[in-house]
Amino acid sequence: MSAMKSKGIVYLVGAGPGDAGLLTVRGAELLARAGVVVYDALVNKELLCLAPPEAELIDAGKRSSNHAIPQDQLNQLLVDKARAGKCVVRLKGGDPYVFGRGGEEAEQLAAAGIAFEVVPGVTSSIAGPNYAGIPLTHREYCSSFTVVTGHEDPDKEGPEVDWAQVAKAPGTKAILMGVNRVKSISKALIDHGMSSSTPVAMIRWATTARQETVVGTLATIADVADKAGFKPPGLIVIGEVVRLRGKLNWFEKRPLFGRRIVVTRTRAQASELTRLLLDRGGDVLEIPTIRILPPTGQQEIAEALLELNSYDWLVFTSPNGVSAFFDLFFKAFDDLRDIGGARIAAVGPATADKLRALHLKVNATPKKFVASKLAEAMADDGSLENLKVLLLRAEVANRELPKQLEEMGAIVDDVACYKTAPETEDRSGAVARLLETGADWITFTSSSTVENFNARIELKTLLARFPMMKLASIGPETSKAIVALGLKPDLEAKDHTIDGLVKAIESAPT
Ligand code: SAH
Repeated sequence: MSAMKSKGIVYLVGAGPGDAGLLTVRGAELLARAGVVVYDALVNKELLCLAPPEAELIDAGKRSSNHAIPQDQLNQLLVDKARAGKCVVRLKGGDPYVFGRGGEEAEQLAAAGIAFEVVPGVTSSIAGPNYAGIPLTHREYCSSFTVVTGHEDPDKEGPEVDWAQVAKAPGTKAILMGVNRVKSISKALIDHGMSSSTPVAMIRWATTARQETVVGTLATIADVADKAGFKPPGLIVIGEVVRLRGKLNWFEKRPLFGRRIVVTRTRAQASELTRLLLDRGGDVLEIPTIRILPPTGQQEIAEALLELNSYDWLVFTSPNGVSAFFDLFFKAFDDLRDIGGARIAAVGPATADKLRALHLKVNATPKKFVASKLAEAMADDGSLENLKVLLLRAEVANRELPKQLEEMGAIVDDVACYKTAPETEDRSGAVARLLETGADWITFTSSSTVENFNARIELKTLLARFPMMKLASIGPETSKAIVALGLKPDLEAKDHTIDGLVKAIESAPT
């Protein structure tokens, strides 16, 4: 290895308007190798989860009222971090060069001789209207659009907007940073010759599940916004194209739009439930509750791995168990065939899916997805009398399943392949949002999600604070765990699967 010092670099990356899915592929790739991430207030904090766990995260907190870091200090910070050899991602809302002071930051880096790249982002001025059902141009309405600043940020210097000029410009107008000044802006546009009946929409938190839109005309919009208690961050769209919203409002019409739903998950586990809820427009707060660690003692699992060939059944009781087992397995062996010929049982559909994804056939899984039925499902495949069963579970797991298997004549080795520890980090800010605003639903997909959630955030206290919040359970085992806390589920899915749970929430009364 040469002693060459790695050179620092700053990437000014557009984070997009709010919807995490609107980050560019290039942006995601750079975040994944960032050593330092400096992010603005309007950036979706879920994106921070794309950075390596050890990356330093710095909140530049650039909201008009409370500047966490003044711009000149921020510029210096970027220079210093790069000079220290870091790969710095400067994550900015929307596109870095649209009213974000990205131009100034890049100039400073250039002046300091720091290597930099600028990755464009999806700007709120275009994506916001889209998500409100408004195309900025349309052959039948207009052939241009103008993006202007409403100058509501008092620190913002720059030339005053010439509203006479804006009023004369043909086509759609998108005004950023103008929410608090909508009254004077619409008056100025009317005074300079625009028709007071020109349609106007205002969109706040555009492209996120918190999006809100109000519609009026240049004459009425200030009152409409005032009555709705409309606050920044938001943008104003002015023009005939606003009429298309009636037909094109795809985003706000999705079935779960506006409903805030909590999903419990382990840090490493990508959640199928989250994906389904997001597709239906739900505002998902993913709350990680546990992290998966290697078991305390590894002697037992090491011995079991050496004797894999002697087992008739391998039994998995959670997707985490599957991942943890194969991590250990591939540390011990480098040939998949060492897994031997034992039959494989999975306690439920998620565990079975995880095994199938590894191209392993699952020989037994209970029809009703409850642990007590697993032993029966295995026995359907032939008597368990004198068969050797390896249970691959968490360090602390209840005795019910091994007892049942033993009663059916099996010889059971109950071996821990992982343990769990409470999660304390809140990178995405989901815990903070839940505690601040509550939610419509908290979903539970297993008894352990109930217990783990409750260990991180006590459910009784939370429900006392937000009495309208409801609990959704995937099935009877999960409901039991809720009842054990002295609570009761407001809904239990008829079909005890992730799909079944989503359907139940979708058809529940609001
Ligand atoms: N570079 C950003 C704009 C930065 S200026 C971009 O390209 O989008 C900040 C202003 O952008 C806010 O005051 C608001 O007017 C607008 N804005 C940013 N995100 C928004 C969102 N999700 N919904 C509505 N307006 C948004």
